[in-house]
Amino acid sequence: MSEECLFCKMVAGEIRPDVVYDDEHVLAFRDINPQAPVHVLVVPRRHVATLNDLEEADAALAGRLFLAARRVAEQEGVAEDGYRTVVNCNKAGGQLVFHLHMHVLGGRQMGWPPG
Ligand code: C5P
Repeated sequence: MSEECLFCKMVAGEIRPDVVYDDEHVLAFRDINPQAPVHVLVVPRRHVATLNDLEEADAALAGRLFLAARRVAEQEGVAEDGYRTVVNCNKAGGQLVFHLHMHVLGGRQMGWPPG
């Protein structure tokens, strides 16, 4: 755990987000400022600051983020119509919270290219 990390505090239960899925490896909760009717963040329980910090040894964890995103999309009823997963990395990527997270966005038509 990183002491100052917001998402680590959520994982630790010090801050209570609106959790939609939870297992040994990941936590998924509703984004506080949703950009779509469904907007969930999937985070690893272990602190990893950015996508750049993922290592070979984290291959299974990376897979778990995707599998949890798939599960959330199903649970939220957007799997069949379609949805988007996004991982922002560092400043130019628009990352604001430095604990790796995958956005799961659905319930509306997504545009391309993203802003
Ligand atoms: O990818 P990025 O780091 O920009 O996304 C961070 C996300 O965390 C934002 O979508 C923001 O709304 C969300 N957030 C949250 N709860 C907080 C603070 C930020 O869901 N307390």
